[in-house]
Amino acid sequence: MDVTFHCVRCGRRVPALGASWRCACGGPFELAERPPFSPAAIEGELHTLWRYRAMLPLPDSARPRSLGEGFTPLVPLDIDGRRIVCKLEFLAPTGSFKDRGTSVLTSALSAWGLTDVVEDSSGNAAASLAAYCALVGIRARIFVPAYASGPKLAQIRAYGAELVPVQGPREHAARAAQQASEGRYYASHAYHPLHLEGNKTFAYELWEQLRGRAPEAIVFPAGHGTFLLGTYRGYGDLKRAELIERLPRLVAVQSEACAPLFEAFRSGAEDVSSDMTQGETIAEGIRIVRPPRAPDVLRAIRDTGGDVLIVADEEIRRAQRALAHRGLYIEPTSAAAVAGVQKLGRIAGTTVVPLTGSGLKAAGEA
Ligand SMILES: *Cc1c(COP(=O)(O)O)cnc(C)c1O
Ligand SMILES: [Zn+2]
Repeated sequence: MDVTFHCVRCGRRVPALGASWRCACGGPFELAERPPFSPAAIEGELHTLWRYRAMLPLPDSARPRSLGEGFTPLVPLDIDGRRIVCKLEFLAPTGSFKDRGTSVLTSALSAWGLTDVVEDSSGNAAASLAAYCALVGIRARIFVPAYASGPKLAQIRAYGAELVPVQGPREHAARAAQQASEGRYYASHAYHPLHLEGNKTFAYELWEQLRGRAPEAIVFPAGHGTFLLGTYRGYGDLKRAELIERLPRLVAVQSEACAPLFEAFRSGAEDVSSDMTQGETIAEGIRIVRPPRAPDVLRAIRDTGGDVLIVADEEIRRAQRALAHRGLYIEPTSAAAVAGVQKLGRIAGTTVVPLTGSGLKAAGEA
């Protein structure tokens, strides 16, 4: 199919190839058309997210660019008297769920013949992009906040990407990447619609793994909120195909030091406030002050009867340790969701928590 974008803010339509990273009006792009979910089209012999190839809106010439991402296992766990079902997203090829979006996006970039991309990230998105660029032979230049933790930077470098540390808050790295995108393609995990398409496969997999049922709730660590939003799209597809009756409640967990989605949700606002400040937190992967898709993310949470919760660093550490003592080693950003579960009201039925990032990413800090 020809991939076409439309702007979520002003409705402008443009061909994806050659489109800028966002609309001239400043709004993020969305895919103009998305294929429906069809169980019959699942390629069951593939144990990666590419089993859903027929449901991915990619250019016809795109080939799956895979390092074995997706189809992560479920592990049930009792934590402080609550049963949760963990989905082990940290088993992804580069150690975080970002590989879902990156694999799908890189397949398109490669089909479009791009040779150079830029990205900004606090670590995991960049490590993921660097790996898939290594796979397909695209040069990647990555702008990272200078405070990003050591193992992530080492990982990005190991894949052969060019690393540009940027002083100051997370946003400065984003701005540097946007400025560099004049001559190179900005493969942004926050903006690119194909990233969301990769993330939606999380919902498809859960639907298969829970034998056609939707869980009662899914609890995400949320920064840009794109994992949550992609999952919402996936469940929307399943509901439209009449395969589930209701959507799971989607719950976002943020660090109390940086909680724009929380503030907006609590105050009934449709978007995050433009004067949020960014405090210090060990949950570096969700330290995002101005998530560009916040209006969509907030709508998704409200539409599903979900919630936004905040957790303190001590609670994150405690959750990280509690999981490690059961053999699951995850990074602090990822542990924020587990800490959030403790603050969730009682929920009948299954609560799923994606364990989004590996503890090896922040080794020595637990
Ligand atoms: C990126 C990231 C998140 C947050 O995902 P968003 O889509 O930005 O909400 C959570 N956990 C880990 C480990 C991450 O790398
Ligand atoms: Zn627009």
